[in-house]
Amino acid sequence: MNLARWLVFIFLLGIIITVLLWSEKIDGVTLATPKIKGTVLRETMFYEKLKDNNVQCGICFRRCVIPEGRRGFCRNRENKGGILHNIVYARPSAVHIDPIEKEPALYMLPGTNILCFGTAGCNFRCKFCHNWHLSQRSIEEMEYTYNLLPEDAVNLAIEKKIPTLSFTYNEPTSFYEYVYDIARIAKLKGLRILWHSNGALNPEPLKELLKYTDAVTIDLKGFTDKFYREVSSAELEPVLRTLKIIREQGVWLEIVNLVIPTLNDNPEDIKRMCEWIKENLSPDTPLHFSRFSPAYKLTALAPTPIETLEKAYQIAREAGLNYVTIGNVPGHKYNSTFCPKCQARVIQRIHFQVLSNNIKDGKCDFCGYKIPGIWD
Ligand code: SF4
Repeated sequence: MNLARWLVFIFLLGIIITVLLWSEKIDGVTLATPKIKGTVLRETMFYEKLKDNNVQCGICFRRCVIPEGRRGFCRNRENKGGILHNIVYARPSAVHIDPIEKEPALYMLPGTNILCFGTAGCNFRCKFCHNWHLSQRSIEEMEYTYNLLPEDAVNLAIEKKIPTLSFTYNEPTSFYEYVYDIARIAKLKGLRILWHSNGALNPEPLKELLKYTDAVTIDLKGFTDKFYREVSSAELEPVLRTLKIIREQGVWLEIVNLVIPTLNDNPEDIKRMCEWIKENLSPDTPLHFSRFSPAYKLTALAPTPIETLEKAYQIAREAGLNYVTIGNVPGHKYNSTFCPKCQARVIQRIHFQVLSNNIKDGKCDFCGYKIPGIWD
């Protein structure tokens, strides 16, 4: 072999060794994590290559077609040379410890903490967003961005003795690959995975992520397509499809409905929503009515009257839902959970704090009725 061939051979060998060093073997699956300019680029898991270096993202209902050099609607997926990358991968802009009740996940390990992650970006444009400073901005506009690889995120939870990692604050769909990689590692280490989503994923990525998920909280933001289109620039149908899939896959599910005065507080719509949940999911699916407070582009609206929330609660109970709560009203009686059989208060809460828990081995400690959820 002449010198030129040797040089080519050594050069190619160097590339192979470098790629191997950048990869980590986890549970039989290789996570490729090429480091570029101090950050990590991760290829989008579900997308199609089209002609002329265009790509079509398959993660959420929008199915953005993205030309080279451009980003999708969520601001987090960029077409670089015909490859679609998630540009917020391993770059969370919010990492916090919260009570699990804040999620809300009220039927999962009550009184424990969760390690929460959020990034820039979102695939919705909700006018009422409380986290708009994350969700409605790109990563370049973030005040803080951490470099935190999936294994480091999991190790942080272990170090802090936190049993559950949660993906929240902004839409996990927009940083799907980060959620997915963390979830796979976390499950190997015996930790729990929770995510809070607007629910507009496509079925294939949803089912893949559910394999490594313990519980999901879904925002069912309203029950008309008109509300979804006009207030969130989104659609209702993909969210309903997601709810059914989560239920079919047997992953624990809780639903939040933020009740916004004049926009989605029509009692007839709330009744239809509750009946749909009962018929298509289960009467045991928890439903949380959450109080709106003025935010982002809806600062002219008043906070939701307490009576409106109590009326919604009544409608849901009359529709046959067994586990209904009211949130964002600290100290309200219906912050707490009551046994559907004996009506005793089985979990007493004030806002995010658990004052007492009378569920033992998944049953009401007063009458023995089985209460669904994740209790240990
Ligand atoms: S995840 Fe982002 S890029 Fe992909 S389809 Fe949804 S909005 Fe578009």
